[in-house]
Amino acid sequence: MKAVAVFPHEREVRVTDESDPAMTSPDHVMIRMLDIGICGTDREICNFQYGVPPPGEEHLTIGHEAVGRVIEIGPGVERLAPGDVVVPSVRRPCMHPECLSCRTGHQDFCYTGDFSERGIKEAHGCMAERVVEHERYLNVVPPQLREFAVLTEPLSIAQKAMEQIFWSMQHRPPWLDRDVPPGERGRGLSALVLGVGPVGLLGAMTLVTSGFTTYVYSREQPPSPRTDVVAKIGATYLSSADLTFDQVGAQIGNVDLIYEAVGQSYFALAALTVLGTNGIYVLTGVPGLEDLVQSDPARIMREMVLKNQVLLGTVNAGAEAFGLSLDALSEFDRRWPTVVPTLIAGRFPPGQAPELVLKRPAGIKTVISFEGRD
Ligand SMILES: [Zn+2]
Ligand SMILES: [Zn+2]
Repeated sequence: MKAVAVFPHEREVRVTDESDPAMTSPDHVMIRMLDIGICGTDREICNFQYGVPPPGEEHLTIGHEAVGRVIEIGPGVERLAPGDVVVPSVRRPCMHPECLSCRTGHQDFCYTGDFSERGIKEAHGCMAERVVEHERYLNVVPPQLREFAVLTEPLSIAQKAMEQIFWSMQHRPPWLDRDVPPGERGRGLSALVLGVGPVGLLGAMTLVTSGFTTYVYSREQPPSPRTDVVAKIGATYLSSADLTFDQVGAQIGNVDLIYEAVGQSYFALAALTVLGTNGIYVLTGVPGLEDLVQSDPARIMREMVLKNQVLLGTVNAGAEAFGLSLDALSEFDRRWPTVVPTLIAGRFPPGQAPELVLKRPAGIKTVISFEGRD
């Protein structure tokens, strides 16, 4: 079968001919892949800065933002049937008995670092015609979401972050109502999203549907398909070409939440200066090697203490976040039926993947589609 793989030693990315994966466990599920999104992580892997092949292998099949259709199930499979559309999660648990996170199915909180990640670290990914996976790592997609389900994985980052911050947002300031419904959790609060890529836009949609007054700040100058999405979902776009962080802070007032989705450390650090009193700053980007910059740690520390601020990093996403992500996609589709389809920049055959993965995407989310698309 056809797959797309990176060969770090040969410094090459190419379409390969692999043997079909085998179903070796009763709870195994055979999936025919439909759509695989590509993102900045794939770009880094294909630039040989990131990513590790499975032990003893020379290559790593890429692809972690995947949607497929079940074509065969093992005798122990209970929830799934052939024909179901599914989204696999990415991270797989470490083997250490003492890792409480992995032992309880929360491998996104793994303590040891010995987890694997499909398409990223020591496990082949989903950019292949067929993939075999354990039932417990698969999330069922409602039929009406089939076209956008490729956004589930990048959206799960925002969903996990929201669950984490709502807990601290609702429980830390003592006067807040702890039982507020999810759609009103951000009522009266302002959120600033940094970055206008897929993670930023899906984060902004999550914040708007949670009731935050939402702003998105990035380099991009309008008009563009990305800034159009910001306007259409009822958020406000601010360009760093026009406004400094000080001016952004003056325009918004108290910034209750910052959701960082750029992965550029200097920009992220500079944004800390506009985080408001009792504010929470969520970091999701993973910067590559960058030049050292000067900063003023005394100012950062002083502000964080005097303003009761929280700095929260969040990685990947657990099973719960994938479920929330599918619910959120339904909600986005209900609210913005003409906007959600524009998030998919285009679908391309696997032969174009090696070239597309290295390019900055022209639209929002570039998707690789395998034959037999339905
Ligand atoms: Zn990704
Ligand atoms: Zn672990």
